[in-house]
Amino acid sequence: MAEILHLQDTVSGATFAPTQAEYFNPAIGQVATFDVLYDYEQLRATLDRDRLKANPNRGMWRYRELLPLAPDAPVPPLAVGGTPLYEAPRLAQALGLSQAWVKDDGANPTASLKDRASSMVVALAMSRGITTVSTASTGNAAAALAGVGASLHQAMEIVIFVPSSAPIAKIAQLLVYGARVVLVKGTYDQAFDLCYDVCLEKGWYCRNTGINPYTTEGKKTVSFEIAEQLHWQVPDVVVVSVGDGSIIGGIHKGFVELYQLGWTTKVPRLIGVQAQGSSPLVQAWQDHIDGTDMQPIAVSTLADSISAGLPRDRMKALRAVRSTQGAFVAVTDAEIVETIPTFARLTGVFAEPSSSVIYAGIERAIQLGYIHSEESVVFVSTGNGLKDVARAQQSVTQNGLLVEPDLDSVLKAINQAW
Ligand SMILES: *Cc1c(COP(=O)(O)O)cnc(C)c1O
Repeated sequence: MAEILHLQDTVSGATFAPTQAEYFNPAIGQVATFDVLYDYEQLRATLDRDRLKANPNRGMWRYRELLPLAPDAPVPPLAVGGTPLYEAPRLAQALGLSQAWVKDDGANPTASLKDRASSMVVALAMSRGITTVSTASTGNAAAALAGVGASLHQAMEIVIFVPSSAPIAKIAQLLVYGARVVLVKGTYDQAFDLCYDVCLEKGWYCRNTGINPYTTEGKKTVSFEIAEQLHWQVPDVVVVSVGDGSIIGGIHKGFVELYQLGWTTKVPRLIGVQAQGSSPLVQAWQDHIDGTDMQPIAVSTLADSISAGLPRDRMKALRAVRSTQGAFVAVTDAEIVETIPTFARLTGVFAEPSSSVIYAGIERAIQLGYIHSEESVVFVSTGNGLKDVARAQQSVTQNGLLVEPDLDSVLKAINQAW
């Protein structure tokens, strides 16, 4: 277990004991989640990366010495993390990179990287004796929380706030897991604020992205896995899709911590990919605007998991890119649809559009000179393609061959078509 040194506000630098403040600096407001910081000198002196070799746990709790949870505290049973890192030489070749890997986080139990954050938050809730955890989301974060909650051996109430306009399939996944679902006749932003207010009223634990700082702690484990899977040789670049900015902030923290521990020798450049129709972080980065000065904008993209008009974890997202000399790039919805089959055919990883977008993002980053050929890149694939089958169907132009059920017809059809 890592003992928390303090929670630090990313805007003012003010520090708090974990008992003093829960979510964000009350004097600053909901602009940024805290950094959860540890005594890295002490961790460096006591932890040894080679001891991990003997650890049979393949999931995210393999790294619990770097997570804020007591050694004997129970964790949710769902097997979160430990996702594969595939070497992808054809992907590298298609883009002119020296080496490429895909970290397939769609292989998590509820099929997205969000499971890491939900598992961390639910573990903390259990250790504090909290019996209700709530979040606002229309998609993967809610499914992750509902699934992790349903896996517990003790009863835990999960309450999800969604806009009543949310897609029926996503609401169905929550109801299947037995979550209580509040359908708000309003926008996602209204559902988000209501969720937080109700949590304060009822004493529920709030998992909202951009409110709960421990979501970053869960998400950073993806970087620990990437580094260990590459035998602690970190790549030049890591690319990921960005909506609220929480995942890229978590990836950054993971690599920074490994560097502080002396387990790795560099922090990779981070490239964040946004949809053109929802690209406030691209704008802020290009125009050198501070996270505290960003204003909400109207957004529209088919990539629903990365649609955010005012990214809730913008301070951490901008810091991740700026401090690593990385970049933010935007790609169009048309390009995003094309990436679904392109990425799947080059890697074997079927990703949802909000995730396969990284392929077009790297193409753009190369065009703009942010990445050079001969660099190595890890593509973090955040969500499984089965989350959005309708969009996948639209992305493929060829139909299958329709044949009569006899050998002659099949051979004739094959010979004609191919
Ligand atoms: C949530 C999500 C993202 C974006 O993460 P942020 O933390 O909002 O930037 C990207 N891809 C998938 C599949 C997601 O579920």
